[in-house]
Amino acid sequence: MQFSDLPLDHRILNFLNRKGFADATEIQSLAIPHALIGKDLIASSKTGSGKTLAFLIPALQRVLKTKALSQRDPRVLVLAPTRELAKQVFLQLRAMIEGLPLKAALILGGENFNDQVKTLRRHPQFVVGTAGRIADHVKDRSLFLNGLELLIMDEADRMLDLGFAEELKAINRMADHRKRQSLMFSATMDNTELHYLTKTLLKAPQRISIGEANAPHQDIEQRFYLSDHIEHKEQLLKALLAQTPFQQVILFTATRVDSERLAKLLQEWGHKSVGLSGELSQSQRSNIMNEFSRGHHQILVTTDVASRGLDLLHVSLVINFDLPKLADEYVHRIGRTGRAGNKGTAMSLVGPKDWRSFMAIKTFLQQHIEFSQVDGLAAKFKGLAPAKSLNPKHKPGKNAPVKAPRSKNKPVKRIKSAQGVDVGDAPMLRKKTKLIDRDED
Ligand code: ADP
Ligand code: MG
Repeated sequence: MQFSDLPLDHRILNFLNRKGFADATEIQSLAIPHALIGKDLIASSKTGSGKTLAFLIPALQRVLKTKALSQRDPRVLVLAPTRELAKQVFLQLRAMIEGLPLKAALILGGENFNDQVKTLRRHPQFVVGTAGRIADHVKDRSLFLNGLELLIMDEADRMLDLGFAEELKAINRMADHRKRQSLMFSATMDNTELHYLTKTLLKAPQRISIGEANAPHQDIEQRFYLSDHIEHKEQLLKALLAQTPFQQVILFTATRVDSERLAKLLQEWGHKSVGLSGELSQSQRSNIMNEFSRGHHQILVTTDVASRGLDLLHVSLVINFDLPKLADEYVHRIGRTGRAGNKGTAMSLVGPKDWRSFMAIKTFLQQHIEFSQVDGLAAKFKGLAPAKSLNPKHKPGKNAPVKAPRSKNKPVKRIKSAQGVDVGDAPMLRKKTKLIDRDED
């Protein structure tokens, strides 16, 4: 479908023209018409398929074409799980309303609250932000949502993973009137809590789901490498970076500490690299993302704070130094590449400690996975036998530290081939983990 087939305001069509976007993506063709007639939506499609415009186009159309319920309150509120994603959505929106007599505000955790109060007093029609801080402004009565017409939740499932259910409910209560429309978007929607919450947040929603979240992403080549321990992972990483041509890389690690350490190590190896984690100040985080998107760094080393939504055009390679605990996080992480029809590669290092996650991912993807190897760096580790990896007896005791020292991997029972492992009772896909790098506000 072409955008010009949709009954869109000429100012929106002009914007799309300037961007060179003539054809709507699949999710846009399906979601925009429903959103335009005021239906609530719960929509999912693969990473990089154009979900942002699928909600920003109807949002702008509403503001341009209909009378406001309130002159004072925002008409559209967009919530995102991380500051980086909220900012990206805001920048997209700002480009769309450039030159129009409309205002948009970006309200992020970690930034000055009083400055935000002042910004909100200028009565922007659009507010984009992270859920915690928006809820704080609602509580503080610096943000009123009685006039809110459209609530958009990008990466809604992730907001719940991060524990923002209460904030979402509070925001919903403050904007609870019959005229309100709500849209939810993500590449993955299999969060049980989300299904309960949709009953509260959405009215008779239209469900749009393009492809299965676990369907292979055609534009992303996925490779898995067995590895023995952290030093071996480092050797593999060095070799893989040396032998793989790439534009930019995002390297994911399990913890903030590892991000910092690996960023330094990569610098020693001669790569321009930088670490990004949730504990940095907001201005540091912004600087790093700006620099990375402008190509000042080759490699961004990060935790799951950067797994969601970020649209960085030159990322051709994603490396999972450690596997994420949640299988759907894997889908989002690798989705930082292969966007908007470009090709990308995702490489994951699978050591003994990643085995449970690997099995969960394998079950989720329902794919046959053949391990790749780097010459001279074959792993001795071949996977854990199901009994060994899943038997509760072998879990660390209650008082064991959450993170065992990484270099001293316990000897593991080896099986001949990792391929033959029964995946029937893989661990739960969704488990809250202490390792989530959460934006606190
Ligand atoms: P998602 O939210 O589904 O992961 P994004 O909204 O971030 O995807 O879009 C991914 C990329 O696709 C962006 O760079 C965006 O500008 C581009 N894009 C969006 N819509 C179109 C379109 N209709 N035609 C071409 N490119 C598009
Ligand atoms: Mg997105």
